[in-house]
Amino acid sequence: MDIVKLVDCVDFSAKKHRNQRRKNAAETPYINHPVGVARILAKEAGVSDLATLQTTVFDLVSLQAAILHDTVEDTDTTFEEIEKQFGKEVRDIVDDVTDDKSLPKMERKRRQIEHAPHCCPKAKLVKLADKLYNLRDLDQEIPQGWTKERAQEYFQWASQVVQGLRGTNKEMEASLDELFAKHGVVVET
Ligand code: NDP
Ligand code: ZN
Repeated sequence: MDIVKLVDCVDFSAKKHRNQRRKNAAETPYINHPVGVARILAKEAGVSDLATLQTTVFDLVSLQAAILHDTVEDTDTTFEEIEKQFGKEVRDIVDDVTDDKSLPKMERKRRQIEHAPHCCPKAKLVKLADKLYNLRDLDQEIPQGWTKERAQEYFQWASQVVQGLRGTNKEMEASLDELFAKHGVVVET
């Protein structure tokens, strides 16, 4: 049953991220982030109003991948573990949104820009929701130890990643564009 599969992902991700915190002053439990990313997909990317005649863009595997998207990058989780427990389609999406941690940080950031247009459509959805969540966090509060300039650079870099994800979901892209405009990021269209 779909709902059981989803709850299983939430349980798995919560256990894997149990000792991690976000970078805000309140040190919010990390699990709030993947759950929030899935919520953006569920509530903001899909269309529940039949009057608009638009179809829902997310599905179970994209929600599962959203919940699991940082487990390999940030915990001891392996892709094999994800495939065994949640199947190959979920694994492939998580793979598409996972940075190679063996590379230097700046190289990883460059590769995200380069790789974004080549992600599968469901991975693009997860990446858009992930960037939207992180930029909303930064819009609310600059992480401890960060300068305003560093947050601004993050907005600039994120806009370049988002550039390669465009044409995937107009609702999330419009929300991202509002944030870019608010933070003075010039977006090429
Ligand atoms: P980081 O990559 O270090 O941090 C941003 C990531 O942290 C986000 O992508 C998000 O990833 C996660 N995150 C956790 N909590 C928050 C939060 N509250 N708000 C937003 N994101 C959050 O940032 P940078 O890209 O700025 O830094 C890249 C590298 O450069 C690092 O090694 C850093 O130490 C170094 N550096 C950069 C400077 C700069 O001016 N840019 C200055 C000094 C050092 P996720 O979705 O995976 O949780
Ligand atoms: Zn994330």
